[in-house]
Parts: sequence; C-alpha cells; structure tokens
Amino acid sequence: MKTIHAPASMTAWSQRLGREGVVIGLVPTMGALHEGHRTLIRQARLNCDALVVSIFVNPAQFGPSEDFATYPRRLSQDRTLCRKESVDVCFEPTAAAMYPERFQTVVSVPSIARRWEGESRPHHFAGVATVVTKLFGIVRPDVAWFGQKDYQQCAVVRQLAKDLNLDIRLIVRPTVRDRDGLAMSSRNVFLTAEERRLAPMFYQALLSGQRTIEHGATDAKAVQAIMEKALREEPAIRIDYLAICDPDTLEPLERIDRQAVILGAIRLGSVRLIDNVLASGKAGRIRSVKALQKGR
Ligand code: AMP
Repeated sequence: MKTIHAPASMTAWSQRLGREGVVIGLVPTMGALHEGHRTLIRQARLNCDALVVSIFVNPAQFGPSEDFATYPRRLSQDRTLCRKESVDVCFEPTAAAMYPERFQTVVSVPSIARRWEGESRPHHFAGVATVVTKLFGIVRPDVAWFGQKDYQQCAVVRQLAKDLNLDIRLIVRPTVRDRDGLAMSSRNVFLTAEERRLAPMFYQALLSGQRTIEHGATDAKAVQAIMEKALREEPAIRIDYLAICDPDTLEPLERIDRQAVILGAIRLGSVRLIDNVLASGKAGRIRSVKALQKGR
C-alpha cells in the first residue's frame, strides 16, 4: 500500500491508472477507522480496480466551538486497517496542502444543507461539500462510497455531483451498527460507560417511529411525539432534532404518504450522535405499487 500526502502526486497516480482504463474507487474518511468504515472499504475493494482511502480531518467542516482539536486521530492504526483490507493508496493530505494561503472557493448546497445538521452546525456542509469536491478533483475516482449514517451528507454530495456534472458514481451503503443498535461512529469513544449504555435508546426511538409509520400512521407530528416521549424518559439525553422528511429533498413531511426518512441528532453528555432510518407507510407502499403498475 502506498501512502501519498501531496495532492499533485495523488492526481498523477490516478491519471496514470486512469489512462490505462483502471476503475478507481474512493472512500473519503476522517480516519479513526472503525467497523463502519471497514465495511465500506471492503465493499469498495470488491467493486473497483484501484482503491484509494482518504484520511483527512477537514478543519473547514468544524465550527469554532466544535471538536476539531480533540477529534480522534489514529493514523498508524488506520494505515494497518487499510493495508489489511488491500487498499492501494492511503491519501493523507495536510490541511496546508488542501487549503493553501489565499484559498477562497466554497462549494455550497444551500437548500439541502439548510435544515437539520445545517441548523445545528451552520458551516458544516459548506466545509463538507468543498472538501469532497476537492477530493474528487484530486483523486479523480470513477466511483465513491459513502455511508447512510450521514444521510444528509449523502444528499449534499449527490446534489453537488449532479449540479457540477461530476462524472462519478456514488454508492451509499447501509449504516453499520454495534450489536445493541448504536450506529458506529468515531466519536463513540468519547461516551462514558453510562452514556454508552444509554446510547442505543436513540436507535430504538427511531425504530419505534419507523414501526409506527409501517403500521399505518400518517401524521408526522404524532409519530414524532412517540419518538420524543421515548427519549425524554432519559434525562441524560437531549434531543437536538427529530424529523420525518422527504428522502430526497429532506423537507419535513406533515403527512407521511410516501417513503420517508427519519433523521435525528441527540446529545449525550458532551457527545453528539446522529442517526437515521428509512420508513415506508402503507400509503407510501400503495403509491409505490401503483407507480410500478404504471411502469414508473
Ligand atoms: P467519517 O470518517 O465519519 O467522515 O466517515 C467516512 C465515511 O464512512 C462516510 O461516508 C460515513 O458516512 C461512513 N460511515 C461512518 N460511520 C459509518 C457507519 N456506522 N456505517 C456505515 N458507514 C459509516
């Protein structure tokens, strides 16, 4: 496995392989790799010829009061994992190389980024959209893999790739969870033992919303109330947001008459957790069947 730091060397490597018709895959990460990342990397490994994993804790996507300084960094373990998974290149640029003096371009996807994570973290998605665009420009992948865990991020990346005519296939893989349902995340290491014990309540609450929708509930407020009630039973949990949304636009739904995504963020002590599940109500399923019958 090669480790490449300089963006220009990364591009040269990709261009050389690209000319030979090699299919290049990219899994962008911020490191501190866990089983969620590993699953994404394995999937990518099976579906491209040359695999690049980027490891870059992107300062531009952290707000001034957020955890950029303390975000877990475990480069040597990350490299070992990548080597074991037969990654071809670990791309580890420095912040100075990614954002040299007088860097000024910002990619923003205002409508999809406005709500939910965007409200809690106002500069987050401009940072994400800018770095992903840069990584696509540097690595020049044919295919890139992302995790559903960061649902809104996936929607932002999909939109920017479409709007900017980037000829890159995007693949979104399901969220990988611990046995008790907690979505794996690099930040989980910051949970105390007690917080870790409580954390699965979040996924349980999302599942209760999903079940309620599947049993025919169509009033989003009522479903939301059920999820909130489950979480409010535990005083250590603070809800940041819980929302039932259109899966493409991420606009909130009042009536759940099609497929929906339930998005949420909570705080447990100093740790902020995000998660989501898809839900399809009876009305949504009937519509899908009708659409199918009409050949749509
Ligand atoms: P991060 O290092 O947190 O920026 O994540 C890098 C990529 O891994 C993103 O596409 C994430 O959505 C994905 N990812 C992170 N955690 C998980 C998980 N538990 N399951 C699946 N994908 C994940």
